[in-house]
Amino acid sequence: MQYSSAIRHDWTEPEVQALFSLPFSDLIYQAQTVHRAYFDPNAVQVSTLLSIKTGACPEDCKYCPQSAHYNTDLETERLMKVRAVLEEARAAKAKGATRFCMGAAWKNPRAKDMPAILEMVQGVKAMGLETCMTLGSLSSEQAASLAEAGLDYYNHNLDTSPEYYGQIITTRSYQERLDTLSHVRDVGMKVCCGGILGLGESQRDRVGLLLTLANLPAHPESVPINMLVRVEGTPLADVEDLEPFEFIRTLAVARIMMPASHVRLSAGRTAMNEQMQALCFLAGANSIFYGEKLLTTENPMADADRALFKKLGIHPEPIQVSDEDDEVAQLMDQIQIQKDREFFYDASR
Ligand code: SF4
Repeated sequence: MQYSSAIRHDWTEPEVQALFSLPFSDLIYQAQTVHRAYFDPNAVQVSTLLSIKTGACPEDCKYCPQSAHYNTDLETERLMKVRAVLEEARAAKAKGATRFCMGAAWKNPRAKDMPAILEMVQGVKAMGLETCMTLGSLSSEQAASLAEAGLDYYNHNLDTSPEYYGQIITTRSYQERLDTLSHVRDVGMKVCCGGILGLGESQRDRVGLLLTLANLPAHPESVPINMLVRVEGTPLADVEDLEPFEFIRTLAVARIMMPASHVRLSAGRTAMNEQMQALCFLAGANSIFYGEKLLTTENPMADADRALFKKLGIHPEPIQVSDEDDEVAQLMDQIQIQKDREFFYDASR
């Protein structure tokens, strides 16, 4: 069975099951063929992720050490100050990141936090970095103000299939997640949305997750595929490991179903050796998080990533800046210079 590289939103469960059932080499061959129709096969987009507010989250995601429902050793931190966030962004840019993602452990952002959040977006954008945030559910008004501030991407994952979701999270519905994604789309921001594998779900659930993502009205521009990082104290601390080839298969199927999206090899890379990561790139992953931490879990050290890129002949994908973005960046630079110390609103109060 040969699939075309056309963008489709009408995938069916039997078609996706058939992809999962292909011999491994055939699946990888198809994923590579589709990948090469849309991307430089040796370029990988590099993002850096910063936790701007850590822990004490009211949600009960069973995999997450930041949930207030579970006892983990995580140290909670209030919302970072704008200045500190901008310093981190500057350092990430110096180390080669082209996108700076900021994550806060919230059900949704509160009105009192929005001014600081918007200043973070404006400040990071002014450095010429792409901006991404993950703050929980958004109202349409919040999505609009983030877009106006220059937020390029909003991350909100679906985590798993609609059928399995209730086993993992009970405090936020699948529909609420879909509503946030549509608010983000409606204001013209790009969507970063994927899931986590190894939650104890079945292959049918992995099919269900990819079907939901690929049959959205528009494919997410970024599709993070995470491997569960088991954390002591969370209900999934002892869940069985996912078979590594099943992880790679899922990446390859995601690549075929969403050919023009960046498929991101996300959390869980520390548990993967270089050979497994190379197979993930071969399967069509073309984005990674770079840096020492992913919100609260370990990530391969930047030096190790650089060495792996060299061994594989991979280069970081350059940032794509439109003329319009360039003008915005220049304008923001000027605003930045003019602002006095009050620019740094103390968001931790
Ligand atoms: S995954 Fe996000 S929403 Fe869920 S508990 Fe963790 S921080 Fe909160």
